[in-house]
Amino acid sequence: MSETQEIQRLEALFAAAQRVGIVVHTHPDGDAVGSGVALLEYLRRCRGVQARLLLPDPVAPYLRFLLPADGVLTASAAPGSAEAWLASCDLVCCLDMNAFSRAGGLEAALRGSRARKVLVDHHQHPDRDSFDLVFSETQVSSASELLYQVLLALPGAGSAERLPLQVLTPLMTGMTTDTNNFAKSVFPSTLRMASELLAAGVDRDAILEALYHNYRENRFRAMGRYLDEMLHITEEGVAYAVLRRGFFDRFGLQDGETEGFVNLPLGIDRVRLSVFLREDEGHFRVSLRSKPGVSASRLAAEAFHGGGHECAAGGKLHFPQDIPSPDLAEDYIETMTARFMRNPAPSDTV
Ligand code: 5GP
Ligand code: MN
Repeated sequence: MSETQEIQRLEALFAAAQRVGIVVHTHPDGDAVGSGVALLEYLRRCRGVQARLLLPDPVAPYLRFLLPADGVLTASAAPGSAEAWLASCDLVCCLDMNAFSRAGGLEAALRGSRARKVLVDHHQHPDRDSFDLVFSETQVSSASELLYQVLLALPGAGSAERLPLQVLTPLMTGMTTDTNNFAKSVFPSTLRMASELLAAGVDRDAILEALYHNYRENRFRAMGRYLDEMLHITEEGVAYAVLRRGFFDRFGLQDGETEGFVNLPLGIDRVRLSVFLREDEGHFRVSLRSKPGVSASRLAAEAFHGGGHECAAGGKLHFPQDIPSPDLAEDYIETMTARFMRNPAPSDTV
């Protein structure tokens, strides 16, 4: 199908839709919430369609400024409501995720849904068979950037000025967080989009203020402890830290407040890979970041049941299935990464 045909199909799906469910990945980050809110606002404000953004987990405090007064249902906070919407809608749009398995508690409801399904995503390996229509592009900064391109291509939009700020502001936020404030995954199209959004009136200073100057003090105290005491660096240039529940309790940290910690060790000259684990129920959530030439996504797939982008990926480490006890997480990381770093290139070059 050509790009024009895909846009025509999407236009037809939007035009026919009565109720739309928008789903993003579990523990939603700025790109997930940003692209999700942007599509919600587009459908409601520009097309008069009934839509809901369905979140598997609550939005972290630093992203709450993006949420509209209504229209967002959080599955883990109000069990049943998001699933009920999914069961009753005739169109589902999945954003910033490449497979239903990334939808956490909404996975089963997605699998059971008989609605038409559209995917807009920038991860590798999209599960095309699960969707009626797929917009997948890895050479963009974010799902927010790809969604912007799709929205502009639809009849009637054409330029940023034709879209309301309630759509543009979350898109700018998503591209800002996924590029680590334009420090990585920046393409010519990324800067073009940023420029167009600024020209259309998006207040980037206000976004940066909300995102980066609004943390609680605890986060920085915890960051100090993480860098000083928790971080280990192996001979192979792997920086890793395992944060247990006690760490979160000691600093009173909420979900999302360690966002960005994993990037910090990459500033160290000899570090080529950063591995960051936080304890959850029966598993650790794993974040991986790497310098070019080291494939974080390959390691995520090989050692942590996950995936993501070449230099920013994630997954899980279960106990007792993967390691007999959580105390053995550090040993596991040392062993797996020592082996991996002998040949850390992306799989298509191995
Ligand atoms: P983060 O470390 O910020 O949670 O995630 C980094 C990237 O890896 C994101 O693009 C995210 O979608 C992906 N990712 C994180 N956790 C998982 C996971 O459990 N499975 C897969 N397939 N991707 C993940
Ligand atoms: Mn993303």
